Amino acid sequence: MASFREFGEAFFSLFYPSLCAACAADLRRGEQVLCLRCILYLPQTDHFQRIENPVRLLFAGKVGIRSAAALFYFSKGEKVQQLAHLLKYGGRMDVGEFTGRMIGEQVVRSSSMQDVQAVVPVPLHLDRLRKRGYNQAACISAGISEASGILHLPDALIRLRASDTQTRKQRFDRYQNVDGIFQVRDPATVAGKHILLVDDVITTGSTLIAAVEALREVPKVEVSVVAMAAAR
Ligand SMILES: [Zn+2]
Repeated sequence: MASFREFGEAFFSLFYPSLCAACAADLRRGEQVLCLRCILYLPQTDHFQRIENPVRLLFAGKVGIRSAAALFYFSKGEKVQQLAHLLKYGGRMDVGEFTGRMIGEQVVRSSSMQDVQAVVPVPLHLDRLRKRGYNQAACISAGISEASGILHLPDALIRLRASDTQTRKQRFDRYQNVDGIFQVRDPATVAGKHILLVDDVITTGSTLIAAVEALREVPKVEVSVVAMAAAR
């Protein structure tokens, strides 16, 4: 007869996919979201240990930040793109929480991020949040907070309008269009803090730059930036 534990696991697996979210291999007992092989071999960056890295350079000369890092490199058609896609469009909030915990473990060991005092996700516009049902960046920031013990402020920023339809415009225009779309809900909650701003994927950095600018309007705020993945 099946034990209660086995029965419980079978019941549980009806709701939680038992395939690796990156390579679709069967997950073994004890594995969640990613198989051990993917945890070891997905293209992780060295950004948390290397302050001068390509993601930080995206912000150079545009907005002042303390440090920036991505967990993985992102290439079209590869496993990290599959992960990002499942998180954003596939309802897989657990992908964000899991990779967020991986980031949180790196944050506490990083010399440039270990004094971070609050984790803040890049918000979605309310219309988009209602359609999707969740903010993928907030799934990641929740995981970071859980693994690091750093305060989570999921509602610190408000997105005044959506801006993702600007992708075909010139780079300069796009930057202009995202400028000013974020607002800090209550400046007192972030004032004086080193904030870790979280997004799922970094491409041009223009959305994040706008969010950093909104945070830095509050006195004595410093910002570091982290994402699950960045273009190589
Ligand atoms: Zn895998």
